[in-house]
Amino acid sequence: MTDNPWQLTKAQLDLQARARRLAEEVIAPRAAAVDASEEYPWDNVAALQENGFTGMTVPVDLGGLGHSLLDAGLVVEEMAKVCGVTGRIAVETNMGAISAVLAYGTPDQRAMAAEMVLAGDKPAICITEPDAGSAASLMTTRADRREDRFVLNGMKHWITGGGVSKLYLIFARAFDEQGEELGIGGFLAIRDVTRGLSFGRREPTMGLRGLPEMEVLFENMEVGPEMVVMPPSGFRHGFADLMNAYNSQRVGAGTVALGIAAGAFERAVAFAKEREQFGRPIAEFQGLQWMLADMSTQLEAARSLTYRAACSRGHGADGPGTSPFPDATLAAQAKIFTAEASIKIVSDALQVFGAAGYSRRNELERMYRDVRMFTIGGGTAQILRTVVASRVLDQKLPQTRDGYV
Ligand SMILES: Cc1cc2nc3c(=O)[nH]c(=O)nc-3n(C[C@H](O)[C@H](O)[C@H](O)COP(=O)(O)OP(=O)(O)OC[C@H]3O[C@@H](n4cnc5c(N)ncnc54)[C@H](O)[C@@H]3O)c2cc1C
Repeated sequence: MTDNPWQLTKAQLDLQARARRLAEEVIAPRAAAVDASEEYPWDNVAALQENGFTGMTVPVDLGGLGHSLLDAGLVVEEMAKVCGVTGRIAVETNMGAISAVLAYGTPDQRAMAAEMVLAGDKPAICITEPDAGSAASLMTTRADRREDRFVLNGMKHWITGGGVSKLYLIFARAFDEQGEELGIGGFLAIRDVTRGLSFGRREPTMGLRGLPEMEVLFENMEVGPEMVVMPPSGFRHGFADLMNAYNSQRVGAGTVALGIAAGAFERAVAFAKEREQFGRPIAEFQGLQWMLADMSTQLEAARSLTYRAACSRGHGADGPGTSPFPDATLAAQAKIFTAEASIKIVSDALQVFGAAGYSRRNELERMYRDVRMFTIGGGTAQILRTVVASRVLDQKLPQTRDGYV
């Protein structure tokens, strides 16, 4: 393997090295405590922000550095190697809801969101409801028009960062004053500012415990026109457009899984060289050598697919390659493959450690719990396969019995 197989530029290699230094010196020593306390790591957020690792993709005219998705991904991967929670925060300050607002927002919305992420906010994206998970378009949270404003009622759950994020991008079913449905739109709200926005129960999660997964409630939450995020095709196709922005998030989620797996692999290699049984390092046994070889192969395949997706551009208004977001098929393929491979890699790394890997004293135990999420959140591996299959077969594949959705 060459040292720079992706032919990263000098600037990218420097960025990666800076991120690695921060991850190893500052973030890694805190990772176990973040998991144990289940508290949002504000000090890690401050460290990311001070190093210019939040709002990286914000364009220069909005005060950002205009980094590419791949640049941001290099930072995410380094953070996730040592702390999955910090990796996910790095995703969402750079390529989650922020991607949708930067692409579709008004100049004022773009400026507001840019300022927030540059200051370290991790905007939350609110789609999932108790009865609308994979079938997201069956959401019931509604936004009723009252003159030039909208009044939102309903609830979401499993919202990452609920209660700690400042900015919320909420997907809701919009109706006009006659009760006629307009389609699904995006609405912005700000914690502690927008009245009617509140937070319910926190979900006790298996892993990634420093990030709250919350119920978010809307009770007669009124927003003015300045808080409506309207994609160019309007409410009718608003949902598809807003979901397209989610392709950046999918690449980001795949990158966190990749980082966790890469971190687990590095630890397994070091341990295999050091641990002795039968009077020899366990790395001398072919049974483990082949495991490590397979892990490294899966890791490289996952990295190639993820980086490729990060560098891609989907079908936009002006044809193929003109979307501001990654290609939907590549983003889905990258997330499916990377999430599944990473779960296996971390499990095998834990196996290399033997009983030590099963101890809560060992980081592998935390990494195994953390990485398990990535075939679920942000589109399950099954749903993403329907995305890929519809491209392969070149036809829509509605999942409801009447073929409506
Ligand atoms: C840690 C975490 C963070 C999250 N963060 C957010 C967030 O910030 N914002 C947000 O809006 N949501 C978030 N989610 C929610 C996430 O997007 C949903 O969990 C996901 O879309 C699946 O929905 P569900 O859990 O209701 O599962 P369900 O849709 O009920 O699915 C259950 C099972 O059925 C399978 N299934 C369902 N439909 C089909 C089908 N048509 N074909 C084949 N299999 C199918 C699924 O793959 C799954 O295995 C998060 C979830 C997790 C775990």
